[in-house]
Formats: sequence, structure tokens, C-alpha cells
Amino acid sequence: MATPLGHSIIGYALARAAGLESRGAFALAMGAASLPDVDFLAGYVQNGDVRSLHHEVITHKPIFPLIVGAATGAAVAGFSLLRGRRPKAREVGKPAALATVLVASHVAMDLLPLPYDTMPASSIGPVEAAMTQAWNAVIDVATYGILAILVLERNGQTSEA
Ligand SMILES: [Zn+2]
Repeated sequence: MATPLGHSIIGYALARAAGLESRGAFALAMGAASLPDVDFLAGYVQNGDVRSLHHEVITHKPIFPLIVGAATGAAVAGFSLLRGRRPKAREVGKPAALATVLVASHVAMDLLPLPYDTMPASSIGPVEAAMTQAWNAVIDVATYGILAILVLERNGQTSEA
């Protein structure tokens, strides 16, 4: 499975490709692309083990991106109504679709058979864990960094902010 770095790279690239421009929007996009890994936190809270629920709950299921997209659309529409405006379909549909794509990118990326070093189920030391994550980050930068650059260059955007 990809690291948060890999998910964030793709989240940033998708946000740029969708025409978003602000740093806040990029941060939200990178957060959405990493959202399914909230099951690490759920596992820690419930069982005291960050890996106990990883890929075991709904956040890595194909339905989850649709739920997040629908919730995003409902939130945008609700916010518009609170401001006394009737929401337009495009105002609701674009963020809902983007949220769906961002979260779906995570679910799909975790299925790709890249040569990650997976941590064993038994606990390993902090040095071994750091080395594992460093190797996985190298794979993510090599794979998703290059993919993001290619996509952004093709869209006429450079990787400069
Ligand atoms: Zn994941």
C-alpha cells in the first residue's frame, strides 16, 4: 500500500488537474486522498494497535469514496442554504465528484502491486519501521511523483505553485 506521501502527491496532482489553485484547497485534497487511512487512528483508539483495523473497516471499501462524495455534496449544499442561497447543481456536483475521485484514488492505489516493504504483523523496532517507511516513500516518489509530473505537464501546468 502507498504511503501518505504517495496519496498526497496524487491528491495534489488531481486538485491541480481539476483547476484548484489555493493552498487550502490543495491541503484539503491531499487530506481527502489520505482519508481512508483514518482506520489507523480508529484501530489505535479501539484496540491500542494502529494496524488492528487497517483495511478491515469501510474506509478502504469501494463504497467509501461514494459516501464521502455524497457527504461533500450535502455539506456544500447545506452551507449554501445556510447563507440563504439555493445551491446550483455545478456548485454541488464539482466538489462532490472531486471528493469521490480523491478518496477513490486512495482505494485504488492501495491495490497496486508495487514492491513495497510491508511491515510484519509482529511489532518491529522503530529503526526497522523507519527504514521500511523510507523505502516505501522512495517507491511512491518514483512512481506517483513521475506520474503527477507527467499529468500536470500534459495539462499545460508545471509543478511550480
Ligand atoms: Zn490506505
